[in-house]
Amino acid sequence: MEKLKGLKCRECGRRYPSAPVHVCEFCFGPLEVDYQYEALKGVVTRASIAAGPPSMWRYQALLPIEGDVAVGHHVGFTPLIRANNLADELGCREIWIKNDSVCHPTWSFKDRVVAVAVTKAKEFGFDTVACASTGNLANSVAAHAAEGRLKSYIFIPADLEPGKVLATLVYNPTLVAVEGTYDEVNRLCSEIADKYRWAFVNVNFRPYYSEGSKSYGFEIIEQLGWRPPQHIVVPCAGGSLITKIWKAIKEMKMLGLIDGPVDTRIHAAQALGCGPIVTMIKNDTDVLVPVRPNTIAKSLAIGNPADGYYAYRTVKESGGHGEHATDPEIVEGMLLLARTEGIFTETAGGVTVATTKKLIEQGVIPRDESVVICITGNGLKTPDSLYERLETHVKIRPTLSAFDRALTDLKSHGAQEEH
Ligand SMILES: [Zn+2]
Repeated sequence: MEKLKGLKCRECGRRYPSAPVHVCEFCFGPLEVDYQYEALKGVVTRASIAAGPPSMWRYQALLPIEGDVAVGHHVGFTPLIRANNLADELGCREIWIKNDSVCHPTWSFKDRVVAVAVTKAKEFGFDTVACASTGNLANSVAAHAAEGRLKSYIFIPADLEPGKVLATLVYNPTLVAVEGTYDEVNRLCSEIADKYRWAFVNVNFRPYYSEGSKSYGFEIIEQLGWRPPQHIVVPCAGGSLITKIWKAIKEMKMLGLIDGPVDTRIHAAQALGCGPIVTMIKNDTDVLVPVRPNTIAKSLAIGNPADGYYAYRTVKESGGHGEHATDPEIVEGMLLLARTEGIFTETAGGVTVATTKKLIEQGVIPRDESVVICITGNGLKTPDSLYERLETHVKIRPTLSAFDRALTDLKSHGAQEEH
């Protein structure tokens, strides 16, 4: 079955054959993958999906891969967790965590987009993959390039967290640290992509790459029993994920996989130190004003997001809203999720939890409605933000009497109160 129609300009609608291109030659609008939805109707069913593998590839019919999956066979199908403790704490009825902090193999949702992009790069016959990254993408491109036996060039801002640098270098890519912001790294990569015949996953492969994010949305719906939630709170960096979750809901609705009307509102979460998309939402303007990032949430530190306008449109179209989180609120968000649900997320997850809390307190998310919080990365990669905040409670010599004394002290200071 021919499922891909090719690429389509998001602005003027002009069509292009499937190729490693990302910009419309006519109007410079971004290109997007288009499918033969009529042919997929009745072929892609709940049963056909459920019979697929326990990975993102159970939705392969709705991903832009024409041959076999080349890398990342085990990516996705991460847990959707009913967060009763967090819901109790926030005074809500139904909160879920979509937990890509445990996505295989590099512990972030980026594995979804990279598995698609690298498979597509092999389909198009490329021998080198590359990316501009704030960290998680670097980890994932390096890992999947290793698996796919491809060369990789990874470009990052030089001030990235050491944990994310190490978790890239281990896969033996060529890592290029650029003295500049992510936006400067990205601009440089656009020039390099024009000059060298490399598959830049988030530049010339962006139309294919970004489709991988749909699997995150598909999984939320399937795991809720083919029912979209009333609210989804999504962290925004480049702004692509939020648009693709919305696209996933629309595709499932179009294919008859969802019963009844969709009443999902999509909310954007950003750091106050880099929140140009949320600023658009709050000011109700579709004009994005780029910012120079200054936040501990480095994986979200994109001051001029490529999909900022479309992220804004998604939020507006769904009737959602957005909020900024300050650096202290981000840390509190990380600790809140860890303390209530036993899930250690990175700073981006702290942003999402903190934003959700604010939207609930503001009444934007009513306490009796269902909410999915998108947790997209793992806390073990960015421990730096917590070192100052957390310390060991007890340090003793290895004797029972030393422990007995310490325990008495602890109890008298109330450090280990039972909640
Ligand atoms: Zn166009």
